[in-house]
Amino acid sequence: MRAFSRLLVWVLLAMFGWATSTRAAETQRPNFVVIFCDDLGYGDLGCFGNPTIRTPQLDRMAAEGMKFTQFYSAAPVCTPSRAALMTGRLPLRSGMCSNKRRVLFPDSKGGLPAAEVTIAEALQANGYATACIGKWHLGHLPPFLPTRNGFDSYLGIPYSNDMDRANDAPRGRAAFLQPKIGYWQVPLLRGLQEIERPVDQTTITRRYTQAAVDFIKAQKEKPFFLYMPHSMPHVPLFRSPEFVGKSRRGLFGDVIEEIDWSVGQVLQCLRDEGLSENTVVFFTSDNGPWLTFSEQGGTAGLLRDGKGSTWEGGMREPTIAWWPKTIPAASVSLQVASTMDLFATFHQLAGIPLPKERVLDSHDLTPVLQGKGASTRSALFYYRAYQLMAVRVGPWKVHYQTQDAYGPGSRQAVNHNPPLVYHLEHDPSEKFNVAKTHPEVIAQAAEVVAKHRAELKPALSQLENENFLNQ
Ligand code: MG
Repeated sequence: MRAFSRLLVWVLLAMFGWATSTRAAETQRPNFVVIFCDDLGYGDLGCFGNPTIRTPQLDRMAAEGMKFTQFYSAAPVCTPSRAALMTGRLPLRSGMCSNKRRVLFPDSKGGLPAAEVTIAEALQANGYATACIGKWHLGHLPPFLPTRNGFDSYLGIPYSNDMDRANDAPRGRAAFLQPKIGYWQVPLLRGLQEIERPVDQTTITRRYTQAAVDFIKAQKEKPFFLYMPHSMPHVPLFRSPEFVGKSRRGLFGDVIEEIDWSVGQVLQCLRDEGLSENTVVFFTSDNGPWLTFSEQGGTAGLLRDGKGSTWEGGMREPTIAWWPKTIPAASVSLQVASTMDLFATFHQLAGIPLPKERVLDSHDLTPVLQGKGASTRSALFYYRAYQLMAVRVGPWKVHYQTQDAYGPGSRQAVNHNPPLVYHLEHDPSEKFNVAKTHPEVIAQAAEVVAKHRAELKPALSQLENENFLNQ
């Protein structure tokens, strides 16, 4: 009997030990939250220098975390930028870009190819709970929606909030100046189901926020990945009644201040749930401000141009990373980094090996977040769909072709031979072309580009229906 009791105690202790060690291992794997704005400019946050938009929650996030001042999206428009974030690959490798149609539209038949591996798929396959709450824009037909791309659940507007324009809505910009919900008949999806149409966009930021908080609170067993791509501040601009007239920057400022409130709710929820020291949160944007919308668009601050262009204002984003006790508080990183780097970073932190059978454009940011070193990124490529427009090597940016802002104001592409050369750390506004005095930079960039092109296999565009239907 005594032997039996001893055995029983041993078995119980072993089980208890196993359970605690499993839980310990589980708590070592951090949670991930990515808050992704739409068309937010480099100069639109208080902590990035905006004089009248108040962002106390984001300012606090920066004070507790790390501000990145040279962090880029992978494309200057929505769809390719999001594809690259999800896959850690330049959009032309997955075909999620187009020279004809720059993004997906409600009549598009394509989306993110199933052969791509998303961050969500990798994390889901390795025991993470995953949720996407917000704007997807990687295909709105069932095979391409978030729940088919590694997310356990989805709530959101599947594409841009200015699509599905009603026939009786005012034409052109008039609709945006006095936006009304019915002007845009966009759907709200839960999973694969449409649950509301048109979406009451005045409550969309609040509803995304509530869904995010509910998701975090529900996670008791598994580590999680929450991807929260806001529909705002993409035009048409809407905010809830509590934020009407709150900002001194008008409607656009009200919208940003509501997003700031939302960030505060998410971070406070993480604190309240005791998860703050085990959750990595990134806040950034898909592309720069939509300048053609004048006061309804944001500002890139000191950066040149905005959404749609490969000048800095189109792709450099106001970015903050937060992970209390690991990321040094109130730090500023000058690391040149990309939204594509989150793919390798999350793999590293979750202990998941990177896929080896495909080319990635992703560099692990773990040493940067820990304040211990630099990433291995040595170059950054600026593409407009399939066209390589510019390359950044160290502080230098070399433009082979430029094309100014998006929309009705678009100008023709201009080829530069010799290329334009800017020292971005001396001249972040790209004002002073120093090509004449720096031929060695042009030569070095040419080598980097040749090496890049040698391993580049662009995929057929998934944004052009004729291509998609031919496959
Ligand atoms: Mg966008």
